[in-house]
Amino acid sequence: MARVYNFSAGPSMLPEAVLKTAQAELLDYHGSGMSVMEMSHRSKWFDEIIQNTEASLRRVLNIPDNYKVGFFQGGATQQFAMVPLNFLTTGTADYLVTGNFSKKAAEEAAKFGTARIAASSKDKNFTYIPDVKAIDYDPNASYIHICQNNTIFGTKYVDVPQVDGIPLVADMSSMICSEPVDVSKYGVIYFGVQKNVAPAGMAVAIVREDLLGKSAKGITPAQIPTMMNYTTLLEKDSMYNTPPCWCIYMTGLVMDYLEHEVGGLEEMKRRNEAKAKVLYDYLDSQDFYHNPVQKEYRSLMNVTFTSPDADTDKAFCAAATEAGFVNLKGHRLVGGMRASIYNAMPAEGVDKLVAFMEQFRKEHQ
Ligand SMILES: *Cc1c(COP(=O)(O)O)cnc(C)c1O
Repeated sequence: MARVYNFSAGPSMLPEAVLKTAQAELLDYHGSGMSVMEMSHRSKWFDEIIQNTEASLRRVLNIPDNYKVGFFQGGATQQFAMVPLNFLTTGTADYLVTGNFSKKAAEEAAKFGTARIAASSKDKNFTYIPDVKAIDYDPNASYIHICQNNTIFGTKYVDVPQVDGIPLVADMSSMICSEPVDVSKYGVIYFGVQKNVAPAGMAVAIVREDLLGKSAKGITPAQIPTMMNYTTLLEKDSMYNTPPCWCIYMTGLVMDYLEHEVGGLEEMKRRNEAKAKVLYDYLDSQDFYHNPVQKEYRSLMNVTFTSPDADTDKAFCAAATEAGFVNLKGHRLVGGMRASIYNAMPAEGVDKLVAFMEQFRKEHQ
């Protein structure tokens, strides 16, 4: 069996050690005589799984006690709607549009009130992040929403907005656990798990307690659909109904891996920076491939690049697949290529990709 180097933007690679643990525990989880896929979510085994998953997530991300952690179905996209439904208390919020997902989040919020575009980097095709200190925030905004790492355009925030009394809400789907985060800077952090944490099918939200119990202006908390009500679901410890059990289990395994195998998020960051540096240094060292992103805002997780023309891009992706480097085709909005080098991508995967790129360049330049 040969495992490929999978550069998919998501769902994406998981650590091999985690897959092996899941495999070993598949048929008989801890003496239960069944797999996690088959057991009741009210069983003692699952009860322990969900509690351990939350506890290790809290340790890995260093989440303060005044934040609740919940597991939700519907992916990050459902969070785009849940955030305004629950937190748009003044009827208006500030959205920073730095790519496709933040644009979608703003469009979703506009269904429930005003989603004011406080800043955008559309003028330069989302190749940078606006200066967050120079933005005129609305003092009446219920919150400020950002997408901290832009999966499609390959950018990330260096500083995040901090305005007294206005909570910051961040979509961290494609960078969560890639580096330490100061949770106390945020009112809400949410992420779909299928980029850096677990298989597809779940989002995690980390919510500061004082934000709960409210609703968008014009509706009461009781009018929020139950499955979109953070307060209800968090009060029930994500067990109001059947939760995404397998995803919660896998999230727990990945957190254990980060904590005990990697040694925490400082070390994860160091590894991610080293991996990204190899690729960006190579991109900067030649003139066949091109990365369009303003250097200081380059993503550690999603690296975009183009070759001289679209036909060569196509030939590159075909040859790369043949060589065992798969899912390098860029998003249709950007074209070219994108190497997503999440936590689970080993350093040697990036080293070998760069060697392949250089070989391809020699043959085509
Ligand atoms: C992938 C992604 C999403 C969408 O996630 P789904 O779970 O498919 O809804 C949203 N935001 C960001 C930053 C993403 O990378």
